[in-house]
Amino acid sequence: MELEDINTIAVLGAGNMGHGIAEVAALAGYTVHLRDINEEFVQNGYDQIEWSLGKLAEKDQISDDHAEETLERITPLVDLEEAVGGVDVVIEAVPEKMEIKEEVYTEIDQYAPDHTIFATNTSSLSITDLSEFTDRPEQFCGMHFFNPPIRMPLVEVISGAHTDEGTLDAIEALAEDFDKSPVRVQKDAPGFIVNRILVPLMNEASWLVSEDEATIAEVDSTTKYGLGQPMGAFELGDQVGNDVSFHVLEYMHDVLGDAYEPAPLLAEKVENEELGKKTGKGFYDYEDGPGADVPTDQQSEFVERRLLASMANEVAKLIGNDVAPPESIDEAVQLGGGWPDGPVKVVDEYGIDALLEELESAYEETGHERYAPAAYLETRAGEGGFYEQDDAEEGTSFETIRVEYPGAMVGHIVIDRPHRMNTISSELLEELSEAIDLLEADDEVRAILLTGEGEKAFSAGADVQSMAAGGADPLGAVDLSKQGQDTFGKLESCDLPVVAGIDGYCLGGGMELATCADIRIASERSELGQPELNLGLIPGWGGTQRLSHIVGEGRAKEIILTADRYDAETMADYGFVNDVVPNDDLLDEALELTEQLAGGPPIAQRFTKTAMLAGRDDTDAGLELEASAFGHLMATDDLMTGITAFMSGEDPEFEGK
Ligand code: NAD
Repeated sequence: MELEDINTIAVLGAGNMGHGIAEVAALAGYTVHLRDINEEFVQNGYDQIEWSLGKLAEKDQISDDHAEETLERITPLVDLEEAVGGVDVVIEAVPEKMEIKEEVYTEIDQYAPDHTIFATNTSSLSITDLSEFTDRPEQFCGMHFFNPPIRMPLVEVISGAHTDEGTLDAIEALAEDFDKSPVRVQKDAPGFIVNRILVPLMNEASWLVSEDEATIAEVDSTTKYGLGQPMGAFELGDQVGNDVSFHVLEYMHDVLGDAYEPAPLLAEKVENEELGKKTGKGFYDYEDGPGADVPTDQQSEFVERRLLASMANEVAKLIGNDVAPPESIDEAVQLGGGWPDGPVKVVDEYGIDALLEELESAYEETGHERYAPAAYLETRAGEGGFYEQDDAEEGTSFETIRVEYPGAMVGHIVIDRPHRMNTISSELLEELSEAIDLLEADDEVRAILLTGEGEKAFSAGADVQSMAAGGADPLGAVDLSKQGQDTFGKLESCDLPVVAGIDGYCLGGGMELATCADIRIASERSELGQPELNLGLIPGWGGTQRLSHIVGEGRAKEIILTADRYDAETMADYGFVNDVVPNDDLLDEALELTEQLAGGPPIAQRFTKTAMLAGRDDTDAGLELEASAFGHLMATDDLMTGITAFMSGEDPEFEGK
């Protein structure tokens, strides 16, 4: 089935996930049948969608009309035949019970048209087993959303043993059309990718505490502040619900064996009904205590090594059994778990030989199956990591940005952290600085284009999480501010003309970065602003100085002091954005403009930039520089090229001499 053939979608179950999935589908323009077992439940789901759309409109993320039309596309239904008759795709989100799902699939198989694809949102049941309840197992796959579907970008698209390629392609295309990022899971393995990494990690953390090898504080301090995960392992466990993790583990234990035996601590929590936040108490006490109070200073090298060893083993099993390649695992866990780096990259960087050794010695010591090294880990330890080492050596390898060469004499820097809204970390600043050097030194490059990956953000600002990982250390903050000032200053003063192509959020540090480009062009949907004062901060990467040179001091003060968000048109009126273009044209238009600048006279461009910059603080110095530059330019070949071309009406070919 092609994406164009999908128009109507049935979502079965209007609970937690079902109502969110229905909302996402309707927002993307699909006609949605939302079904639950009685009027009350389905109406409840529908009301939640109405509320959520209202919130989106209130925050100006969608227009009032869009909210209204979206709601109109959803029909709440109880009659199952009516719900699935005539639909192209069924997304099932009924309770996680095999018997309930069996009943649902047996029934809908009769009512749904032959061409209809069935996609299940199950978190843990076997896709293959579920598909066998129907007479169309090849048109059946997993479509695993994360909670809440409206906000979480990841969708795991899982192949059952019978699923055909066309079904997976169609569901992947559908997920993309929902504005989500699908990651394919090639095999129906328990936990798919994200839960297969997160849940055993949480279990290993629990084992360490059960066996008195570490404390909860050490584990969480290490996972949150050492490894930079958004939450400590136990903090996350409490958030997800200890019964949920326990249930997934038990399933893994049944299917995959003793390596997944739940740790006594976890079992005990479930037995005592200390299920986490939802019951007021789990690993932390949320009712009578301070909740998840994770210390920054109890990081432990031992905990890090043991947890990473366990994770490397899990990664090896996933890759070695062809469930997913390294890239997919990293993308899925970054998107689904909010990790700054994916698990494969993390263990590769640590060194999988050392992690293999750790597993071997833990296995010898305890004899527990969870430490038995996977065969594929042993294979890859000899190769230096899970990623092919050649991959890393291709060109200059950046992690947080990409440098591409898309057009005539253009170097394109792409901020490549879409899963974190292209936020700017210290590592990104370092790489940006290197990329500027690289492009400046490249004779083939005459202009730089700077954009953000994806449609959500040019850059939503500084990576607050990576800052938090450094603790609230004022000296660290001063260093970070200086590092940003220097890097952005380098861009501003670089010899080549720089165009910023802004699509989506351009906030805080992202806006300060854009300020250092020579010309800014933005898509209609872009939103810009300096929200720092809302956090009690100030723009610390040059914003208090550079913005006034572009929009004037009055506007700069307004933008910074109100900390408001501005649309692209207003920013064009203020003179910050040079041009506003339709969303889909942004990249083409920005590239065209950069190519135009790349065709300009390099020396004259460089002097223009230096003179204007020098004149900022000291007009006399600027004028002096301008004058001497003018004199210098008179002696260049480019001047003759320019004059000759001007006289003959042809395009000049400047050589920078
Ligand atoms: P939920 O209990 O909130 O919702 C399930 C809904 O399905 C209920 O409203 C129930 O009345 C309804 N229902 C029961 N039988 C039905 C039937 N025959 N037809 C239609 N509706 C029926 O559960 P949930 O958290 O939304 O989970 C649904 C599915 O999504 C499960 O398979 C779960 O594993 C999966 N999932 C959940 C999460 C999560 O975080 N909650 C995340 C990803 C996937």
